[in-house]
Amino acid sequence: QGLEKHFPITKGLIKRQVGAVRAVDGLSFDVVKGETLGLVGESGCGKTTTGRLITRLLEPTGGKIVFEGNDISHMSQAHLRPLRRDMQMIFQDPYSSLNPRHTVGAIVGAPFRIQGVKTEHGTKKAVQDILELVGLNPEHYNRYPHEFSGGQRQRIGIARTLALKPKLIIADEPVSALDVSIQAQVVNLLEDLQNELDLTYVVIAHDLSVVRHISDRVAVMYLGKIVEIADRTSLYKSPMHPYTTALLSAVPIPDVKRRTERERIRLQGDVPSPINPPSACRFHTRCWKAQEVCKTVEPPLVELLTGHQVACHFPENIPQDENTPRHESS
Ligand code: SF4
Repeated sequence: QGLEKHFPITKGLIKRQVGAVRAVDGLSFDVVKGETLGLVGESGCGKTTTGRLITRLLEPTGGKIVFEGNDISHMSQAHLRPLRRDMQMIFQDPYSSLNPRHTVGAIVGAPFRIQGVKTEHGTKKAVQDILELVGLNPEHYNRYPHEFSGGQRQRIGIARTLALKPKLIIADEPVSALDVSIQAQVVNLLEDLQNELDLTYVVIAHDLSVVRHISDRVAVMYLGKIVEIADRTSLYKSPMHPYTTALLSAVPIPDVKRRTERERIRLQGDVPSPINPPSACRFHTRCWKAQEVCKTVEPPLVELLTGHQVACHFPENIPQDENTPRHESS
């Protein structure tokens, strides 16, 4: 709720603060048990920072993080420890996130050892069970990460994440470092595990095709803020924020005959700096619909259809029914 992370910019030996990178700047959203929420946007929009804030790998500078009714925003590490088992992260790069000097058994068994929840014998059995669960051979226990392909390494990373039976998994670009031919296998694995283990996911990705496949709802971020959030069908069929429309127009359509159905919108310029973001609507410097009000009044995130929220003064695909709800959600 109102989540913020501002990284200070300092100058000189006394580290005088001269500014801040506003990586996350007032996010409010919820994740429902059992669902997959996709978090999308261009690189540098604050997606990864958001994932790290949720799991408290980073300290928030403002706002609240509530997990199963507990406000964990400023909870001490000692109090966080039992909750850490419930919230785990899958990292983007299966090449660098596994220690090359440790065996698979040591890597996947590390959470048990750190938390002291199993004996050495119990750990080995548990690790081998998890390896089987993620489609690896229990015999891989004594092998090293360099002996595996990229897809297999990501499976090892997923196995490590599952060790302590988490409830919520934040998957940060879980397939973007993998060969396209392997991506579908890992996405399918994540879906199977969700059904089998009753997991809740937040999947962070810049690839809208992956998010479309795996998510129940999707939140679109731009420069540290959520600009649109909706269920998958509504967002992909009727995007309301111009930024979402532009992102979706860039997703390739596999069917050659249907390619003319959609016009590609090319955004002008780069994403502005989060050190000094544009006033009011942060997208106004690149938006083809921008008007004077967009530069002076920040559009609130409002619900235009049930469960479909957008932050824009001139949304697209707006429903015609005048009774459609329009109220501020944050
Ligand atoms: Fe574009 Fe204005 Fe909407 Fe921002 S508020 S997305 S500038 S139309």
